[in-house]
Amino acid sequence: MKERYDVVVVGAGPAGLLAAKAVAQNGFDVAVIDRKQDLSSVSRTCGQSLLPPNEYFFGDIFHYNEKDKRFCYASTGLSFPYTGAVKNLYTWHMHSPGMNKLQFGSGDENGAPIALSYDKEIMLKCLLEEVRSNHVDIFPETEFTMLQPGPGSVVVVAGDKQFQATSVIAADGANSRVVEALGYNTNRRLIANLYVKSCFIKGFNPPYKNSIITAVTFLHDKPVYIFLLPRPEDDEWNFLILTLEGSVDLEEAYTHITTHPNYADWFKNAENVRDFAAIESILSPIIKPFRNNVLIVGDAGACQELECLGAMLTGWKGGLAIATALKEQQLGIPPRAVDQYSDWWLNTYIKQYDYQDYLSIFGIAYIFSQPEIIDYVFSLLKEPFPPTFNPYTAVGLLGARLQGVMPRIMQERPEMLQQLAGKMMMFPSDVMAETLEDIS
Ligand SMILES: Cc1cc2nc3c(=O)[nH]c(=O)nc-3n(C[C@H](O)[C@H](O)[C@H](O)COP(=O)(O)OP(=O)(O)OC[C@H]3O[C@@H](n4cnc5c(N)ncnc54)[C@H](O)[C@@H]3O)c2cc1C
Repeated sequence: MKERYDVVVVGAGPAGLLAAKAVAQNGFDVAVIDRKQDLSSVSRTCGQSLLPPNEYFFGDIFHYNEKDKRFCYASTGLSFPYTGAVKNLYTWHMHSPGMNKLQFGSGDENGAPIALSYDKEIMLKCLLEEVRSNHVDIFPETEFTMLQPGPGSVVVVAGDKQFQATSVIAADGANSRVVEALGYNTNRRLIANLYVKSCFIKGFNPPYKNSIITAVTFLHDKPVYIFLLPRPEDDEWNFLILTLEGSVDLEEAYTHITTHPNYADWFKNAENVRDFAAIESILSPIIKPFRNNVLIVGDAGACQELECLGAMLTGWKGGLAIATALKEQQLGIPPRAVDQYSDWWLNTYIKQYDYQDYLSIFGIAYIFSQPEIIDYVFSLLKEPFPPTFNPYTAVGLLGARLQGVMPRIMQERPEMLQQLAGKMMMFPSDVMAETLEDIS
């Protein structure tokens, strides 16, 4: 085992592999460590839909180049092979507990898709081949335990292994241990915890085709979110159950949903073919992603998630920044690459994608607080919204439309408006933080 590298990347997810590709393509020695045994296998829940391909996201436009079977970022020039199937998704149907519906997109399949369903395991396999061909050393079953920063280098400790590197890239995702070890979390706010059970199902009877279907339901008065996304092949769907409530039994929620009169017909022939799960802390994002020669990329520095497209771009850009910083050192010229990356992170993520907006979509059942309120508000917003599955865009569209119906709510349901106003005046993070208080 070679113990000295220019760069050690912690985490072989989408962000880490693209960071490794960027550094290695500039001729530097790179090691990637990951705790998983089979690096392309996915056991943590992911919707496995790439979004949003119909608008700029993190300053770029993502698309699938079908001719060459590559995933491409048109503006940055980043591309890599993807040999799996894809399916275009055009509409997002979001249901209230009483089955009133918000619809994003009109179902027009001649327009741009709002998301691309794909196979994440195949993408990771393709990315692993790509980095291996760039002579990156990959260490599976190597779990990061601690960092020892020193002058001009960092020692990464992973169990009984040690790696010395000039720079480290932390790409170990949500609940990042590297971020914790660097002391960032003392200044981040723990907003809520997310608990997820999901499975691939066959035999699902979808009410809409080539669409994303979501719903809010309540179990013992606690909000539970349902996501249903078509898989790229066959008749498989990805069925996700999410809650911020630690007291919700996700197995009970599964039975509740699949037998509930609202959805029972969809699930009557459904067969669970593969299980996944996730538990994640939702924290306020990191503002300055570089400390002690360690650069944070991907979900490790985010408020819960950047979506795969955002994670990959931060990985790629972060990798290029570290490669450039290493060149600066070799040439003895004043450093600026890492600061440029930090500025990009600040301007592109922190300032453009306000985490409170992201939380608004997640917190919808808390902001509208009761099934009856959600049903009523959704009933006022029947007209389809423009096509999007981007949570940040959706919250803007929703907010604008809500403003327009406020006079009607004031007239029809003044008492409800009073209740709504209370929550809507609060930061979504404060509303969601009440779920933490519930647990303690
Ligand atoms: C419920 C849910 C649904 C989602 N749905 C979607 C979706 O539909 N579309 C979308 O684009 N995104 C979705 N996401 C988000 C998406 O999964 C992430 O944004 C993306 O995977 C982040 O990539 P990453 O490389 O930053 O982190 P990750 O994919 O989390 O990769 C981190 C890697 O680090 C490794 N690791 C972690 N800790 C250590 C350690 N201590 N030592 C060594 N290795 C370690 C892990 O094994 C993993 O391989 C979803 C997330 C959740 C939780």
